[in-house]
Amino acid sequence: MCVRKSACDHPITPELGLNTIFDTRRYLIPFRTGLLPQIFCDTLVLGSGVAGLRSAIGAAQSGQVIVCAKDTLDLTNTAWAQGGIAAVLDPQDSIEAHIQDTLTAGAGLCDLEPTELICKLGPKRIQEIIDWGMKFDRNGQDELRAGREGGHNASRVYHAGGDATGIELQRTLIDQTNQHENIRLFDHCFVIDLLTQSNEPGSPVLGAITWHPKYGLQVIWARTTILAMGGAGQVFRETSNPRVATADGIAMGYRAGAQLADMEFVQFHPTTLYIPGAARALISEAVRGEGAFLLDHSGHRFMPAIHELAELAPRDVVASAIVRQLALQGGKHVWLDCRHIKHFPSRFPGIHRTLGSFGINPKTDLIPVHPAAHYTIGGVRTDLQTRTSVPNLLAVGEASCTGLHGANRLASNSLLEGLVMGAIAGEEAANRADTAPVSPGSIVSAIEHSNHAELDLDDVRSSLRSTMWFNAGIERTLTKLDDACDMFDLWGRYTLDKVFETPDGWEVQNMLTAGALIARAALNRPHSIGTHTLVDTPALESADAHDAQCPQAHQHMIWIRGSSSPSYCHALSPITEHTTNTTCDSTTTKGEPNTDLGVSKN
Ligand SMILES: Cc1cc2nc3c(=O)[nH]c(=O)nc-3n(C[C@H](O)[C@H](O)[C@H](O)COP(=O)(O)OP(=O)(O)OC[C@H]3O[C@@H](n4cnc5c(N)ncnc54)[C@H](O)[C@@H]3O)c2cc1C
Repeated sequence: MCVRKSACDHPITPELGLNTIFDTRRYLIPFRTGLLPQIFCDTLVLGSGVAGLRSAIGAAQSGQVIVCAKDTLDLTNTAWAQGGIAAVLDPQDSIEAHIQDTLTAGAGLCDLEPTELICKLGPKRIQEIIDWGMKFDRNGQDELRAGREGGHNASRVYHAGGDATGIELQRTLIDQTNQHENIRLFDHCFVIDLLTQSNEPGSPVLGAITWHPKYGLQVIWARTTILAMGGAGQVFRETSNPRVATADGIAMGYRAGAQLADMEFVQFHPTTLYIPGAARALISEAVRGEGAFLLDHSGHRFMPAIHELAELAPRDVVASAIVRQLALQGGKHVWLDCRHIKHFPSRFPGIHRTLGSFGINPKTDLIPVHPAAHYTIGGVRTDLQTRTSVPNLLAVGEASCTGLHGANRLASNSLLEGLVMGAIAGEEAANRADTAPVSPGSIVSAIEHSNHAELDLDDVRSSLRSTMWFNAGIERTLTKLDDACDMFDLWGRYTLDKVFETPDGWEVQNMLTAGALIARAALNRPHSIGTHTLVDTPALESADAHDAQCPQAHQHMIWIRGSSSPSYCHALSPITEHTTNTTCDSTTTKGEPNTDLGVSKN
């Protein structure tokens, strides 16, 4: 059951709703579909990571499939994954234990149904990718070698090439999609927006408008569109994510009227390599799993005094501890000591190579590390069949929010979620391929000319990323979140009214939208829970106290375009399609009225 209320007992009373500037623009560019080149398919998959490609393989069982990726097919968060994929393959382990570990990590906000579904189907999906040729690491007896990561009470994380799990998974899935004659792969094809019949939230998705440096704007019509465009890591100045993770899918889902859930929850990884001026490279938790220590500037190992699991405490605990250590001692990083770890080069060949490129030898040198934004827990709300609140639109992977991760993701559960939910989305799309033919619409987006001054896009990009890092990062205060919302409203006013012609501009518009939603959602959750750490409000002492003092403490927060404030919901599934409700029961919030079917004016 969902209720629609303002957040409870808010210590300050800011304007809690999202500024209408983020709701006014339906499409980022003006167009008339009738004047653009048209492509037809049964299933359009947006994104070529684990979630997108696994969906595409399933959908290709029945019908023509197109996959779009904005860069090369393998520039994805998926390919950058190091630790592994969590699943129960050892008879000594149990599905129940995996479910329990997931629920514990999720801090009371995981939904039981998706958690059970994903943990139960995990072993089947792992076997499937082994059958497709994925080479997991094995021991001397040729058995799969399982590793352990923070929060798992059993060794159930399966890796490949030591720390190259993602590269091997991506390769396996690309090979598999290449074998399907029903799948066409469009790389360097930037998806700008989902097309909907009308502008009202809940209007069916008909496909997407895309831009390619060679072919320009194109319209791709599809019976089913699967949104698998990854997360929002790049919205933060410090991130482990590749440059493609600019929240495009989440922002365009919002523009198209899909409900977004739990946007305030962003997982920060404690240990990325800190080299000034260089992109942050992840130093996997598995390195701490092998016994690495965190040292402060005086060489003191500080984690044992903070948590009984020391360096293997939950990620948010370790990340906060590092931030506090830096605040105490100054400096930009702490140290990771791996000098005592045997076989570092063979266990972590990729990390060893990266360190080597900066002249760091983990056998003799300490490694400078710093936390960074790592995983976007919130996203487009889905049910157990990956359906969103918008007809014809499915969502999978990091861009989606199934309720599996709750308020904090258990390590290595996201590749698993991508495989399991991708297979479900693919099957769902294949089942729809025999229904009515793909029907194009005549859609016109008319955007008035902006009178605001020209702007320096790079400046807006770097300012918004810094603001998110300092004001909506690891340790938040309501005042800093409030300031962030003000800044986003200001930047939104003169950035979202513009029309850009290349991905740089569209990315900044998407990042502004996602950043505004994350900050506003965080401001609406007035107590710490999971990854959302507020340092200026008293912590609620127990789960019961949570529920008594703040009925929404263990509920999901839902945002939808056109609604001035969020609604709350106990479980994300089921969702009713064909609805403009922001809630799952009686309370209704209408999107902006649309009198001019199919014509966007803003
Ligand atoms: C460094 C690192 C290490 C990680 N390690 C692990 C791990 O060990 N285990 C684990 O379970 N998880 C790990 N994760 C998380 C995990 O990798 C991701 O959550 C998961 O891969 C997301 O998959 P996805 O398919 O949803 O998105 P992605 O793999 O990120 O793919 C997104 C796709 O969307 C496309 N796209 C985005 N915007 C557009 C646009 N506008 N137009 C066209 N295409 C677009 C991209 O081009 C890309 O193809 C790690 C993440 C990182 C960054």
